[in-house]
Amino acid sequence: MKEKKRILTGDRPTGKLHIGHYFGSLQNRVKLQDEYDTYILVADVQALTDNFNNPAKVRENILETTIDNLSAGLDPNKVTFVVQSMVPEIAELTVFYSNLVTVSRLQRNPTIKTEIAQKKEIFGNSGESVTYGFLGYPVSQAADITAFNADVIPVGDDQLPLIEQTREIVRKFNLLYGEGKDILTEPEAILSKNSRIKGLDGGVKMGKSLGNAIYLADDDETIKSKVMGAVTDPNKIRKDDPANPDVCMVAYYHKLFSDDSYATVCDECKAGARGCVNCKRELIANIIKKMEPIRERRRYYETHKDEVKDILEKGTKKAREITKETLRQVKSAMKIDYFES
Ligand code: SF4
Repeated sequence: MKEKKRILTGDRPTGKLHIGHYFGSLQNRVKLQDEYDTYILVADVQALTDNFNNPAKVRENILETTIDNLSAGLDPNKVTFVVQSMVPEIAELTVFYSNLVTVSRLQRNPTIKTEIAQKKEIFGNSGESVTYGFLGYPVSQAADITAFNADVIPVGDDQLPLIEQTREIVRKFNLLYGEGKDILTEPEAILSKNSRIKGLDGGVKMGKSLGNAIYLADDDETIKSKVMGAVTDPNKIRKDDPANPDVCMVAYYHKLFSDDSYATVCDECKAGARGCVNCKRELIANIIKKMEPIRERRRYYETHKDEVKDILEKGTKKAREITKETLRQVKSAMKIDYFES
């Protein structure tokens, strides 16, 4: 019997995390860690669906992703960190669930449709870039969620169709094999606020591969040069020209980092009473101030990597107590528990 409801969340280890991740999910995870039994999945198997030809990149980022989560304020005494590929029950569940979903249903999944369209833009229209593993990652995600018997999944709105896919698989499994009982838990999604933080270039999303992000690991100089290059209102030529903060990325980031002064920034910008250089300097100071506790924890974990490895190893071991039990129940419900293996 669970004492608290359980959350499963996580990241693909494909690069360092940035402030889009911080405001979109990490900050929320920190808030929820006292209320829920939290599991953070370092989703290397999922990362390989896009990076199967570069496993070294995924391997390198296992520790980086964990350090970013710890730096953001997740407490290893409260939350459990798990390496996905070290939990073989997830792979087994994926195989069983793959019979419960049609190929056309996966192709119609709006999240997958968008991601396939993006791939076709990059690789051309042949569709050859879409692997069986990629198309099936919602099934593997259903295996992640159910393996942990998770009740709640925090997501951005673009991820909601993936949770719906899991719920469909759970319902189908319970109906087919449950004999009137719910073997698997149907998870609830909780929507994260700020799930899409715009890039410094004004792009709709800050992205690891888009070159428009401030990373949690960036030092002062890097933050300064990135903010100094941020997109502002192009119609403001002179210092005292009135401008429109709604089209300025500096104003957009003031809203995130300069809680008390955001209204003043906008008023002064509109009135032509604020120059862009000073406006950027103020923002830089606020970002550095807000990031300092995060960077202090990062400095600690960067010099204590054995501690991070230990957190992952112990967490994965603990997680497997749950996932083994889920697999046992699944196989029993499917009547394929022929003998102890
Ligand atoms: Fe943007 Fe500030 Fe310049 Fe206004 S004054 S355009 S908010 S940088």
